[in-house]
Amino acid sequence: MKVYIPRKIGFCFGVRHAIEMVKDELKKGNREIYCLGDLIHNPQVMKELSEKGVKVILSLSQVKRGTVFTRAHGIDREFLEEGRRRGLKIVETTCPYVMRVQRITRELATRSYHIVIVGSAEHPEVKAVISNTPTKKLSVIKEEKEIERIPRVEKIGVVAQTTESLDNFKNIVKNLIKDRLEIRVFNTLCKVVIDRQEETKQLAEKVEAMVVVGGSQSSNTQKLAEICRSSRAKTYLVEKLEDINFNEIKKLKSAGITGGTSTSEAIIKDIKKRLLNHEIRF
Ligand code: SF4
Repeated sequence: MKVYIPRKIGFCFGVRHAIEMVKDELKKGNREIYCLGDLIHNPQVMKELSEKGVKVILSLSQVKRGTVFTRAHGIDREFLEEGRRRGLKIVETTCPYVMRVQRITRELATRSYHIVIVGSAEHPEVKAVISNTPTKKLSVIKEEKEIERIPRVEKIGVVAQTTESLDNFKNIVKNLIKDRLEIRVFNTLCKVVIDRQEETKQLAEKVEAMVVVGGSQSSNTQKLAEICRSSRAKTYLVEKLEDINFNEIKKLKSAGITGGTSTSEAIIKDIKKRLLNHEIRF
């Protein structure tokens, strides 16, 4: 059996940076460390941090004192204000790519553009962008068919959720341009994500099966799985080693393994090793 992995795998720099910030705080001896929701969509890393004493909270009301880390995909302004009011130390781990989206939408708002975000309205990154953009003139769309929901205004500014797929973004922009006098488009897609999607697409075209590894809440992992499903490769979306049906996959001649930006390189290499050795021990 041949097993392939993309050239670039493992944590992106935004995820690595967020983990390092929390670990540095642990090294300082701080015993009151909290994360607002999972710091990253990786159950193994979250388990490791939890064993070291880091607690995941869903709201600031759960904290009386200590340090609260926010997630790499940004945070609502209201949350920061509440944290400051309550005298907590709030540490933002927002990725620079996400901060760029927020800078652009704020700038568009001051210039009275109607802002269109291509992405998922429910995703924390998009919620944080909206919260940090002082305007009511804003629409979030996920698919081409939602374009009709955007008001018929003359000038619009378009950005994307950093983990959106390049093909979907291009398609929406192409359709948005038809009826508008002025449209400003900012490519806010994360380069790491685009490269990973591209490599995954190429890999999925040459193998019989693709194993996509990542947290069930990870948006970019879900996108990788969609890409694989639209190829001829049979797609397995798994969160951890134990979820993999090695018996089934090892019957094939070739397989590829890819993972989201919060999936460690170690787990991908481990799966590759097990597929090649045909070892199935847990
Ligand atoms: S996927 Fe991209 S935007 Fe998201 S944290 Fe990683 S580097 Fe930043």
